[in-house]
Amino acid sequence: MTASGSVLLLIWLIGIQLTLCSRHELQSSLVNLLLFSRLDRGTAQRIVAHMYMLPVTAGEILIQQGDSGDAATKLFVVRSGKFEVLERRKDVMFKVNTKERGDVFGEISLMYDCPRSATVAATTDASVWVLEPGCDVIVEGGLGDKFYVIKEGEAQVLQGGKEVNRLFRSDFFGEQALLQDEPRRATVRAITPLVCLTLDRRTFVAVLGPLQDIMAKEKSPEVVNQRMAKLKPQGSAAHRRPGAEVLIKFTGPQRIIVCDGHMDEVVELRRGGAKMTDDQRDVDKKLVLVEGELLGEGAFSRVCRVTEESTGRVFALKRMAKSAALQCPDHVFCEQHITRNIAHPFCLRQYASFKDNFHLYMLFDLMPGGDLMDVLVAEAKVIKYPIADKNSLRKGCLAPKMKMWQGMEEHMSRFYVASIVLALEYLHDNGIAFRDLKPENVLIDGQGYVKLGDFGFAKQMDAGGRTYTFCGTPGYVAPENVLGRGYNHSVDWWTLGVLMYVVLTARQPFTSPKTQDPMEVMRRIVDDRWPIKYPPYMSDEARDLISKLLERKPVKRIGMMQGRARDIKAHPWFAGFDWDALAARRMDPPRKPKETDSSKRKAELAEAHRAEPREPANASPQEMAEWDRVFKDF
Ligand code: ADP
Ligand code: MG
Repeated sequence: MTASGSVLLLIWLIGIQLTLCSRHELQSSLVNLLLFSRLDRGTAQRIVAHMYMLPVTAGEILIQQGDSGDAATKLFVVRSGKFEVLERRKDVMFKVNTKERGDVFGEISLMYDCPRSATVAATTDASVWVLEPGCDVIVEGGLGDKFYVIKEGEAQVLQGGKEVNRLFRSDFFGEQALLQDEPRRATVRAITPLVCLTLDRRTFVAVLGPLQDIMAKEKSPEVVNQRMAKLKPQGSAAHRRPGAEVLIKFTGPQRIIVCDGHMDEVVELRRGGAKMTDDQRDVDKKLVLVEGELLGEGAFSRVCRVTEESTGRVFALKRMAKSAALQCPDHVFCEQHITRNIAHPFCLRQYASFKDNFHLYMLFDLMPGGDLMDVLVAEAKVIKYPIADKNSLRKGCLAPKMKMWQGMEEHMSRFYVASIVLALEYLHDNGIAFRDLKPENVLIDGQGYVKLGDFGFAKQMDAGGRTYTFCGTPGYVAPENVLGRGYNHSVDWWTLGVLMYVVLTARQPFTSPKTQDPMEVMRRIVDDRWPIKYPPYMSDEARDLISKLLERKPVKRIGMMQGRARDIKAHPWFAGFDWDALAARRMDPPRKPKETDSSKRKAELAEAHRAEPREPANASPQEMAEWDRVFKDF
C-alpha cells in the first residue's frame, strides 16, 4: 500500500464538535495519558478536535462507582474547578484523590472495560472536556467512499443489529461499497480503540481492485463461520450434554438448593474412583454436596468447603452470581472450559459445574492451606537492617539500623516461584495465558505444595495470536496490557516478577503507602524511567531475576526468548535447585500449612456474611430470562 494513499486515522469518537479555546492545553493533558502515550501528534489533534465541553455544578456526581456499560465509556479532562475521587471500601467512603485543571479521569473503565472503580464528584462549580469512544465506523445503508485496514484494535460487523463477524488487526472492511458502487451492507462498530489505515476510492480501485478475488475469499461464509465459532464460548457447542441433578445441602437452618448439572460429571463423582455397575449408576443420578466453612472470596465469587455425601470426599465449591457473571460471560465460560481440561500437578482441576436460578458453580480440588497471601501474611515481619554508611565510624552492632518490611525467606520463596514457573510453562505450552497471577490466586494444598487457581481471566490463545482485553489486578498488570497494543502470555512472566517481589518484600514494586491511585501505579508500570527499588537484604540473584521478569519490552523479557521458560529455570537464583524433584512432587515443601494461616481471614469473612440472604431478592422475570439464555450451556 502506498503511503501517499493512506491516512492514519483514529476512529473512535463521534462526539459533538465544539470550537473551544485552549484545545492546545487539552492536548498536552492527553499526551500524559497511557491510552494516548504512543499516538502521533496528528492523531492526538484529531481526538482533541472531537472532544466537547460540559459544565458541572458543585456537588454534581460525574462518575458513580460501579457504573458500567454506556455510563463507563467517557473520559474527562478537568477544564476548571475541583473534583473529589471517592472510593467505597467496606461501606465507608474514602477520599482517595482530588482532580484539578488538566487532570484526567475515567481512563480505567475505558481501558479495562470494567465498571467505574470510584465515584467522582465536583466540589466547586466546574467544567470538563468529554471524550466519548465506541462508535460506528461505517453504517449499514450509508454511502461509502473509503476502504479501511485495521492497524490496531477490534471491531464488530453488524447486520440488522446482529453481530455477523469480528475483525482484528490486518483485517479490512469497506471494500464492497467501493467495488460494487452500492450502499454499505453492514455496520462496523469499534469495540476497542481502533486505529485504521484508510484508502480513498480512487487509490483503492487502482491499487486493490485487481485483488478482488482474494478479498472475497477472506469474507467467504466458511472463513466467517470458522472465525465466529472460535469466538463463541466453548460451552455452547452444538451438542448439549445430558443433565443431572446436584443438590447443595446446608446445615444450620436446613435448606437444599437444587441445581442443574451434567450427567457425565455426576456419575464420575458418585463413583468416586470406584467401579460401579450400570445398574448402580442408574439407581441414583444425583450428587449431594453438604456445604461447610467459607474458604475465601474474590471480586466475583465466593468459595466454600463442601463434602460429597456418598463418598465423603471434600472439595471446594466456587459460586458466582449470574448477575455479576453477565458482565463478562466469556470469562466464566473460559474458566469452566480451561479448568475442566487442564491436567498438571500445579494447576487446580475442576470436577463439575452446575447452576441454579441465581448462581453458577464450579467444583474444585480443596486446597486446605489457603492461599499464598495467607502464607505471606504469616511470614512477613518488620526487621531492623543495618545501613552501610561510609562516613559513619559506627560499625558492626553499632551501625545505624533502619526498620523495614521483609517477606518470606528466599529459599521458601524459591519453592513457590519455581512451582508457579512449572505451572505457567505448562499453560503456555498449551496456548493458555493465565493473566491474573497474584498471591491470592496461588493456593496451598494440605502438604504445602501449590496449585494455580482462579482461571477467571485465563484465555486460550491461537498460535501467534494476541489479545487486547485489559484485565488483571492494577499493581500487577504488564505494560503491554496497559498500553493496549495487543499481548500474549508475556504478561504472565511480568506478573511473576511482581509476585516474586511481593513475596520477598511484602510490598508491591509499583505501589507505595502514599500512592494507591491505580492510574498512577499504571503510569509507573509503563514508564521506562521509573526505577524499581530493591530492599538491601535482597540477594543480587533475586534482584537480577526480578529485573529480567520486570523488563518492560515483552520481546526482551526472560521467558519470552528462544529458551522460553528454560531461561528462567537456568537463572542463577535457581542454582542447584532440583526441578525434577519438584515436578515429581518429591521435594519437601519448605513450609507445612498451619491452621492459623488463614483462620483470622476466614473468621472475618464468615462474620461479614453471617446475616446475608442466599438469593438476590430483586431479580425481575426479564433479568432471569436473560440469565437463562446467556448461561444455558454452562
Ligand atoms: P475470584 O475469581 O472471585 O477471585 P478465586 O477463585 O480467586 O475467586 O477464589 C477466591 C478465594 O477463595 C481465593 O483467593 C482463595 O483464598 C479461596 N479459594 C479459591 N479456591 C480455593 C480452593 N480450591 N481451596 C481453598 N480455597 C480456595
Ligand atoms: Mg481470585
